Amino acid sequence: MIIKIKSTAKPEEIELLTNWLTISGYQIHNASSNNVKIYGVIGDTSLLDIDRIVSFSAVEEAHRVATPFKKVSRAFKEEDTVIEVKGHKIGGNNPVFIIAGPCSVESYENLSMIAKIVQHIGASALRGGAYKPRTSPYAFQGLQSKGVDILKRVSLEENIITCSEIMSSDKLEEFEKNIDIIQVGARNMQNFELLKVLGTSKKPILLKRGLASTIEEWLMSAEYIVANGNPNVILCERGIRTFEKYTRNTLDVSVIPLVKKLSHLPIIVDPSHSTGKRDLVEAVSLAAIVTGADGLIIEVHNNPECALSDGAQSITFEQFESLMKKGRRVAEVIDRKL
Ligand code: PEP
Ligand code: MN
Repeated sequence: MIIKIKSTAKPEEIELLTNWLTISGYQIHNASSNNVKIYGVIGDTSLLDIDRIVSFSAVEEAHRVATPFKKVSRAFKEEDTVIEVKGHKIGGNNPVFIIAGPCSVESYENLSMIAKIVQHIGASALRGGAYKPRTSPYAFQGLQSKGVDILKRVSLEENIITCSEIMSSDKLEEFEKNIDIIQVGARNMQNFELLKVLGTSKKPILLKRGLASTIEEWLMSAEYIVANGNPNVILCERGIRTFEKYTRNTLDVSVIPLVKKLSHLPIIVDPSHSTGKRDLVEAVSLAAIVTGADGLIIEVHNNPECALSDGAQSITFEQFESLMKKGRRVAEVIDRKL
């Protein structure tokens, strides 16, 4: 429930209301902005009588929030959440944030070379999986902690932000020390125990949409992280599984403006996992930019045919350069930079 407080309300009148809500077992979330005092009430508000709330002298109006997600909802917080990482801002009207790099960290030499080139072309952050969620237990599982060390070394040497996937909560300390943006992969979107632990971190969490998750389930997963104390969540649409087989997943670009209506969190798009095909990555990236995505996470490799994972969807440096050039022009159409 959202409660708007009268601008003329005295502190003691507000206290009367907040004390009553607290005693009744509800949590109060201060969602005030631009001199408008708004409280979000969290708990089973179906039991709350709107007339009882409006009868408090401090209250101007009260509304029920129709969605099960609260703290991540636009109704709770009108203005866009902007997440800062090492001087870069993600969300709001800030430049479209570009994360590029290989699917997996393969070696120090390889990652260092890719980092230099993608940064030169215009990426702000470097991606690279160290712990890889593979369908087959016989497939390359990632360099694990050695991969994390390589990411840290390259990030320091090249002064670039890093993004890498965490698969279990016992690795949080390692990630907090070494990685700038912690990715939750599609397969772990509903690993609620992991989400709760990530709620205790201050690091930005890039939360991918689950393989076959609804938007509501995805936003509820974001709610887990925010409700447990970490407001720095970046949503990442990476396509969902449908009956279509020509693409690895199905990307619905209407999700971008839709999620922006429902939530104040930044949303970025992964054109690589959503298509599974190198030749589709540029067009889908441009579509994501023009529909308002706050960023892109793109798999780029020096020699995609020989990549240790996801080579078919990894683009070359030349393709990345072309994408960035066109992306800058497309971004202008919606008064954004890239
Ligand atoms: C990845 O980013 O390499 C990855 C495994 O992505 P997803 O979780 O979206 O499949
Ligand atoms: Mn991948």
